[in-house]
Amino acid sequence: MRSDPVYPLDSEWIVSNRPKRNKIDSLMPYGWSVEKELSFDGRVKDTGIIFLSNQECSFKCLMCDLWKNTTTSPTPLGAISKQIKLTLPHMKGVKQIKLYNSGSFFDEKSVPFEEYDKIASLVSGIETVIVEGHPLLINEKSLYFNDQLYGELEVAIGLETVHPEILRKLNKKMNVEDFSNAVHFLNDHQIRSRAFILLRPPFMSEKEGVYWAKKSIEFAFENGVECCTVIPVRPGNGAMDLLMENGDFNKPSLDSLEEVLDFGISLKAGRVFADTWDLHLFSTCNACFEKRKHRLEKINLSQETVQKISCGC
Ligand code: SF4
Ligand SMILES: [Zn+2]
Repeated sequence: MRSDPVYPLDSEWIVSNRPKRNKIDSLMPYGWSVEKELSFDGRVKDTGIIFLSNQECSFKCLMCDLWKNTTTSPTPLGAISKQIKLTLPHMKGVKQIKLYNSGSFFDEKSVPFEEYDKIASLVSGIETVIVEGHPLLINEKSLYFNDQLYGELEVAIGLETVHPEILRKLNKKMNVEDFSNAVHFLNDHQIRSRAFILLRPPFMSEKEGVYWAKKSIEFAFENGVECCTVIPVRPGNGAMDLLMENGDFNKPSLDSLEEVLDFGISLKAGRVFADTWDLHLFSTCNACFEKRKHRLEKINLSQETVQKISCGC
């Protein structure tokens, strides 16, 4: 592993390297989709995802590019429920909904607490509501939101990596104990959680990236999450591109994602998904890419191992 002391790796440095953010409207989600996902109860369900437009996350993680679709001013009161109300008619019949806000749902600058009741009533016909949460922002107010919901709450938490030094360098301002405490707090109140695990964060070789992603999945399950999503790390936020130019970061390969997903499934400790958004970024072969993407999607939905795709590459 290489580490280069010339990068401050603090919020100021990370922000100073950013390209321009996208123009977004605070009264409209910046995207939405409906996908199939295997639910915790073993059934494949239509799952709506609303990409909410709101104020940027309070944290400034080294690898994060979610800020691109956020605003710099506080989210106007009523804006989040308006966005959800506008989008729900496009998602009729979904059983699960992800209210993803490019940050922490429980960050009150992004999603005002005063809106929790209204949001909960809007999604009252949906079995499972999934939101993202930074461990340090999961608290009594999260329980309040859960209490207002008709369906079940599931909180997705970025564990990122259990490598202590790299986790510190990610500027996430949390450690593995914070993650563990948040999961236990949720479990104590019968709220499920899923972990986001990074595949090959900066300052790791390909081999180290695979090793630490596997360790992180094991840690997440041992500490009580019900599901893990493996996210291959990509450039594109400025800071990561600079690290890549200097040889301190490289995109993981599709082979590594396959290896880590197969490992996670073999644990039989809970659901394990590979994030397949922008998957082409990690492929080096046009001949097998679609088949390999399809294979990962099949494993995501079945949680069964599927024979590897063979290709001359
Ligand atoms: S906490 Fe999540 S959303 Fe916020 S900067 Fe870090 S990775 Fe991005
Ligand atoms: Zn190939």
